[in-house]
This record gives sequence, C-alpha cells and structure tokens, in this order.
Amino acid sequence: MTDDASSRPHGIRPHGARASARRALSRAGLALGMAWTLPNSVLGLLVGAIGLAFGARMRWQRRELALVVRCWPWGRGGALTLGNVILHTGRELDVPCLTYAHRAGRGAEPPVSLAAHERAHVYQYMLLGPLFLPLYLCCGGVGVRNPFERAADRYARLGRGWWPGTRCA
Ligand SMILES: [Zn+2]
Repeated sequence: MTDDASSRPHGIRPHGARASARRALSRAGLALGMAWTLPNSVLGLLVGAIGLAFGARMRWQRRELALVVRCWPWGRGGALTLGNVILHTGRELDVPCLTYAHRAGRGAEPPVSLAAHERAHVYQYMLLGPLFLPLYLCCGGVGVRNPFERAADRYARLGRGWWPGTRCA
C-alpha cells in the first residue's frame, strides 16, 4: 500500500497525532517538573538577584531549561544549579570542565561540557523537587562520592544517564 501525500488531509502526517500527543505529554511533564522544583528555583532567583546587583547577567537558555546567571562575581569558578536556575562565574556556560572522577584521580577522563553537567542537575531537580537538596547533601555534597555528581558527569560525557540509578554501558 502506498501513502499518497496528496490524499492526506492538509498538513497531517500519518503519525502526526501520536507525535503531537507525545510532545504535549512531554511539555506537561516539563511544566510539572518546573512546578515541583519551583521552591529551589525561587531560591536560585533570590540568590541570582544579588549577583545581578553586582554585575552578573541573566538569560534563559532553552537547552538547559534554566535561567542562567552568568558572570557571577564571587567564588573560585564553576557553577551552581538551584532548580531551573544556574549560577556560574564564567561568560559562557558551555565550556569544558574536568569530571569529579578525574579530579579525584580515579582515572583520566576527557573534559565534559559544564552546560551539560548542570543540565543533568536541572533534570535531577525537576524529578526530585524539594527533596533534591536534602538528598544531595545526604549523598555526600559536592564531590566524586556523590552519585548525583557522578551521574551529571556521565550525562555530560555520554548524553544519557542523568539519573543516579541509570546504568549505561
Ligand atoms: Zn555538579
């Protein structure tokens, strides 16, 4: 059986309805995740507003699903994610950074994108909402021991596996 494009209703493809339902579901999921982690994002916005008063800049980065506050004026460098807000000291977020395993001497790993690493944290926040920070701290805070950090590095390296429980070959 052939699929004659001219016989289809205007602008509709065979699987169009299914694809648009999937898009709507994924948009609903993102909206739910953003709502669930809103307390963290509000905290990020409050902290970010302080930086803005001291020269930081803010813009929405769709790929990261986050308001990115860049040129953060304090700290030793790097980035911090709070819900759908990412604070970082550099001008651009998509720069190479060393993985925690590499820094801890657990093996030589190639640098990963800081933007991708922080994007993984945004996804983790959207899944765990207000539970993220307590769980993150219980898991060891900033460092290679923390499975949330190892998962964020794995996602930045492989493009998948942002959830700590994920197994990736
Ligand atoms: Zn991290």
